[in-house]
Amino acid sequence: MNESVLPTRPLLQPWRDYAVTSDRVILRHAEGAIVFEGRASITLLPELLSRLDGSRTVPELVSELGEPAEAAVLQALHQLAGHGLLHESDSTAVDGTERRRSARALAEVAAGPALTLDEIDDRLASANFVVIGDGPLAEAIASLLVTSGVGSVDRLSEREGPAALAEGKERWVGAHVLVAPGSPYARALSDVNRWALSTGVDWMQVLPYDGHRSVIGPVFAPGQTGCYHCFRLRRRAAIDFHQEAIEIDAAADSGSVRRSGEWRAPSQDLAVAGQAVFFALWHVLPQDSTPLPLLGRAIAMGWTMVGPTIEDHVLYRVPRCRECGRARDTGVPQPWTAATLSAPTHAGTSAQMGPHDAEVFLPGPAAPGVEADTSAMSR
Ligand SMILES: [Zn+2]
Repeated sequence: MNESVLPTRPLLQPWRDYAVTSDRVILRHAEGAIVFEGRASITLLPELLSRLDGSRTVPELVSELGEPAEAAVLQALHQLAGHGLLHESDSTAVDGTERRRSARALAEVAAGPALTLDEIDDRLASANFVVIGDGPLAEAIASLLVTSGVGSVDRLSEREGPAALAEGKERWVGAHVLVAPGSPYARALSDVNRWALSTGVDWMQVLPYDGHRSVIGPVFAPGQTGCYHCFRLRRRAAIDFHQEAIEIDAAADSGSVRRSGEWRAPSQDLAVAGQAVFFALWHVLPQDSTPLPLLGRAIAMGWTMVGPTIEDHVLYRVPRCRECGRARDTGVPQPWTAATLSAPTHAGTSAQMGPHDAEVFLPGPAAPGVEADTSAMSR
């Protein structure tokens, strides 16, 4: 018997599906399975597994299965624990709630083994989110956050949200800020960007489908990732109607871009909101042990005649960005500077969201070092 430590109230990994065959018990998850063989396994394990819902202590399990089976029960528990199949639970946690489901999903995909389900549950319960945006996408995001069981969700309009953030400093300490405007060309994005750069607060953007794609992320971290204006510069560099894009962005900053109507399907908003909220929830976990897929990265979701598209993009900081650039106060680079700079790498587009097939956001004709903030000149 190995010496693994047993949880006080053992909970079988909630994401295991298992089956009992004539001579084995097979526990399946994702692309793998763990198998227990032998007569003892098929007689004892099914009875034991069905009781591992986190509501019973080890002595209670032994009592229910019969004292004579104590040694076998303990051995089976140690074997399960040795394979990492047991979690700690807490009898006071209300199982089956939406928050518990969210906690389990985070435990499965994002949290390290050191974090118990109850700790994740507690973090969700005490997490505060602020959703800024008018329209159905912000509505869907706020609704899904509530359903996910987070502590509080404040809704702010695009007109009042940025000012409310600036004025109510105390109130938003530690809050997770999401901006999901009704239009991809909304003034609130630039306003929140400036507020974030001046306060050092992270925030996440979710842009509605624009006929080409919806953009989920990045999470902008001042001083660490590019900012929203960097994002716009990269986006503009990738399109061939550059001047018009500059003018649309300038119009966005003055709040004068209008919409001709609401045309996105509710199902599209829900799909985008679902991705956004799940990744936003990762940020309630301890930052030192949790990978943050949207930190300086974004997912672009699109719908085409031949099906869905999902791309993973990296946002590189623009050194000469007028909002966050470290080099913004220095002179314009001389023409020969470009010769010493390398162009951004472009590893191709992929439907997989992995670190190995990231695409520069967005591949443009200019190297990042010589990207000039031409929008400033057009003022
Ligand atoms: Zn910037």
